[in-house]
Amino acid sequence: MTFTSGDQAILHIDLDALVANWRRLGGMAPQAECAAVVKADAYGTGAAEVGKALQKAGCRRFFVAHSEEALALRQALPDPNTTIHILHGPTAGGEAGLAAANLTPVLSTPGQIAAWSALAKRLGRRLPAALHVDTGMNRLGLSEAEAYAVATDPAHLDGIDLAFVMTHLACSDEPDHPLNRSQADAFAALRQRFPNLKGSLANSAGIFLGPDFHHDILRPGIALYGANPLDPSAGSRREASRMAEVVHLQGKILQVRSVDRGQTVGYGAGYIVEKPTQIATVAVGYADGFSRALSGRGNAIIKGRQGHVRVPIAGRVSMDLITLDVSALDANDCRPGTPVSLLGGGIDIDEQAALAGTIGYELLTQLGKRYRRIYTSSSVGDAA
Ligand SMILES: *Cc1c(COP(=O)(O)O)cnc(C)c1O
Repeated sequence: MTFTSGDQAILHIDLDALVANWRRLGGMAPQAECAAVVKADAYGTGAAEVGKALQKAGCRRFFVAHSEEALALRQALPDPNTTIHILHGPTAGGEAGLAAANLTPVLSTPGQIAAWSALAKRLGRRLPAALHVDTGMNRLGLSEAEAYAVATDPAHLDGIDLAFVMTHLACSDEPDHPLNRSQADAFAALRQRFPNLKGSLANSAGIFLGPDFHHDILRPGIALYGANPLDPSAGSRREASRMAEVVHLQGKILQVRSVDRGQTVGYGAGYIVEKPTQIATVAVGYADGFSRALSGRGNAIIKGRQGHVRVPIAGRVSMDLITLDVSALDANDCRPGTPVSLLGGGIDIDEQAALAGTIGYELLTQLGKRYRRIYTSSSVGDAA
């Protein structure tokens, strides 16, 4: 946990906690297969490291969004028994490269189905794919009419081995939203048209909606990475969906200064000091994905002799730096080099995200490239 010289900030990623979250989600639907969604570099945590840790724990199916993400993940997970799905499907002209890398696109348009089928014919072998059907989100997937057309005339699928049919929930983080039930019913009806195919419905929050939502393949993302999949509107059910902490971001104090009454802190001089104040400057800023929306709103935690002390961000978040009001701490607990927790370590991701006016997904996927990343796992040791 200590900083070596040169480190400005450290991003700890706890792969044991990640694996524990994956096991817990899978355990909620024991008859289903638990896959893992690792798009956007595993929500900012590192797709190669996360993929390897989950594969070692028994995960055999991964989802990414882009073809390039899938090609990169295949390098990290070359085992042909590990299936990698591309949620956006193949890009026109890119199909052959995906087949060569043994990737399994999720087909979402009649054009993608036709192109994948044409490639199978050209190669003279069957190609694997999954099918995405929209049931109410109106974002990706065949319309229900297009799906029924495919089901009625299987010639559309010539040369394609369909692994499963899937849809995506629009409101699963709000358990009482009526669209959940309506999508689950539409999906159950759709599966009758594809009687021999497996089905996949639930993202992280969907797993918490109960057995009707589980089907055969689970697709959790955010909950693997430690954020709470349910919205605050879920009330007391949200306590039960609290996940193990995976991400801990620690910045380092560069300097501490005394600021007199009447002076201001930071850009725009928006933070006016009303009594003599100790200000600590920390080497993390919005260029590191630490949202500027946390200016004057976010919190940090410093471990002092009186325990963990929560301190406010004073003034604006700038590109490379933030300033904290550390007057509550003993000067000995707060000096150049002292680590400061900015996410995790007592700062709840969802709470910090709410202060920034966003969601944990966005804070995680913005995690910066300048942090020294330390992956810890009891089975592989400290893989820094
Ligand atoms: C991102 C995504 C998921 C994972 O969702 P979480 O809410 O992060 O669990 C699952 N399915 C699809 C289609 C997605 O786009």
